[in-house]
Amino acid sequence: MDQNETSNKPSNFIRQIIDVDIAAGKNDGRVATRFPPEPNGYLHIGHAKSICLNFGIAEDYNGTCNLRFDDTNPHKENAEFVEAIQRDVHWLGYDWGDKVYFASDYFEQLHDYAVQLIELGKAYVCDLSAEETREYRGTLTDPGKDSPYRDRSVAENLDLFTRMRAGEFADGERVLRAKIDMASPNINLRDPTIYRIRHGVVHHQTGAEWCIYPMYDFTHCLSDSIEGITHSLCTLEFEDHRPLYDWYLDQLGVPCHPQQIEFSRLNLQYTITSKRKLTALVDEGFVEGWDDPRMPTIAGLRRRGFTSASIREFCQRIGVTKSENSVEMGVLESCIREDLNVNAPRRMAVLRPLKVVVENYPEGQAEQLEAANHPQDESFGTRQIPFDREIWVDRDDFMEVAPNQKFKRLVAGGEVRLRNAYVIRCDEVIKDEQGEIIELRCSYDADTLGANPEGRKVKGVIHWVSVAHAIEAEVRLYDRLFSHPTPGATKDGSDYTAHLNPDSLRSFTRCYLEANLASAQPGDQFQFEREGYFCMDPVRTAGGMPIFNRTVTLRDSWAKIEKQQNSGK
Ligand code: ATP
Ligand code: MG
Repeated sequence: MDQNETSNKPSNFIRQIIDVDIAAGKNDGRVATRFPPEPNGYLHIGHAKSICLNFGIAEDYNGTCNLRFDDTNPHKENAEFVEAIQRDVHWLGYDWGDKVYFASDYFEQLHDYAVQLIELGKAYVCDLSAEETREYRGTLTDPGKDSPYRDRSVAENLDLFTRMRAGEFADGERVLRAKIDMASPNINLRDPTIYRIRHGVVHHQTGAEWCIYPMYDFTHCLSDSIEGITHSLCTLEFEDHRPLYDWYLDQLGVPCHPQQIEFSRLNLQYTITSKRKLTALVDEGFVEGWDDPRMPTIAGLRRRGFTSASIREFCQRIGVTKSENSVEMGVLESCIREDLNVNAPRRMAVLRPLKVVVENYPEGQAEQLEAANHPQDESFGTRQIPFDREIWVDRDDFMEVAPNQKFKRLVAGGEVRLRNAYVIRCDEVIKDEQGEIIELRCSYDADTLGANPEGRKVKGVIHWVSVAHAIEAEVRLYDRLFSHPTPGATKDGSDYTAHLNPDSLRSFTRCYLEANLASAQPGDQFQFEREGYFCMDPVRTAGGMPIFNRTVTLRDSWAKIEKQQNSGK
């Protein structure tokens, strides 16, 4: 990561807490964080915020950040997710050293902690059914009731827990619970489950070794403690779990008691950052997969052409606070736009081809014209682009009659400049039997290369490619995945899938790209002049033909959407 990026990091309330801790000599000045995903889906842009925060702090404080999988729910987790998460964290630019941590590595130790709680009289085996447990738990306004099994003896609890582990009981028949307070105003403290029985699942790390699995809350805080985490950063919804975490750590008297600090989740408008909902989009076929370029997943953003630097920049811009907020998509898009404006070479691509025959250009003749690869940065150099008698222009750049004064492109009888080439005039419009325009007959002015001759006013500039030299490609334009800023969160409570934008993907299957792009490699990025920034799809082709995904438009189109939204359109 380059110097500039790290040295300008703005502070935030978490960094301030850490500064104070270090000054006070807490943890001997050590800073240890972790990023603890559950491998039950791919990482999304919300996770990026947490990754940048945790790894960023470790980097800046000369500390450590563990990548740890909180893998307590084997039935929703798998090895594909474990791999994808590692790939995505690496791609974002972070490194966790030699060791990947798994909460499942601690299953034996966690089991011993549970036994310890039983011995302390702080945990008991409960035989209530799931439904009874729910009834006994009470509500936000009513206290819960003690389970009839709450006062089992330590010996009986130890025996039953041993037999739970040995597989003597069926799923749901018994659980191990913490003995805290059924009347606590905090429901998390009403004797939460510590261990449950799960037969017949194969865990991606521990296989069939266990038939009891520790609950997330028990596992998470103790795994942090085992790893010597000093600052346990998590999102606000875990604030109410903190008293439970503290209770476990205090009862067990563990040597390391990490300090939990909560921050607000990232919510991004017009998309969702809930793994459960993203999973449903994938499973129900609303998108192509986890890496669909419309998905707010790291894999989707990468395929779409977002750079890791732009995502890190985004995470820095949104900052870290405790207040709930919803970030505009425009913020993310301006990060990538700024990056690509500086870093993407310019090319020409015709998405909606319309043939132009330059009638006064001699048949069989061809020439190479020089074009700058970047309008401001000369270090990008120049390239040769072939010009000859037949070229493609974009259908949208021609109209028989200008619809208004603003239309500066080509019209019948009018002139326009071909980008990096000559001025042409449209002499004739050829139509098919249905009246559809199929070709333009034009003439070029050989004296117009580079500049307009004296007294000539040609304002419009359009892009083009040579018919003989163009390469064919599919080009995909993306729009927001949802047509509502907070999908699913409406007064009528409608399902978020009802807010899916039916026009989120537009494919142009027969596009012509300038010859130079024949050497483009998967993942390469370009500005297609006047069309936006594009990335050659890094993983897919259209039957061997390259696919170019539009990463982002040239200008902010979100401002317009916001305006429409506000005026109720
Ligand atoms: P979901 O609720 O969508 O399943 P999660 O929070 O359960 O997501 P985890 O795999 O447990 O997903 O998340 C790993 C870490 O990423 C956690 O520390 C979590 O707080 C953080 N995280 C998840 N979503 C966001 C978000 N939208 N903004 C910031 N941090 C997030
Ligand atoms: Mg979670």
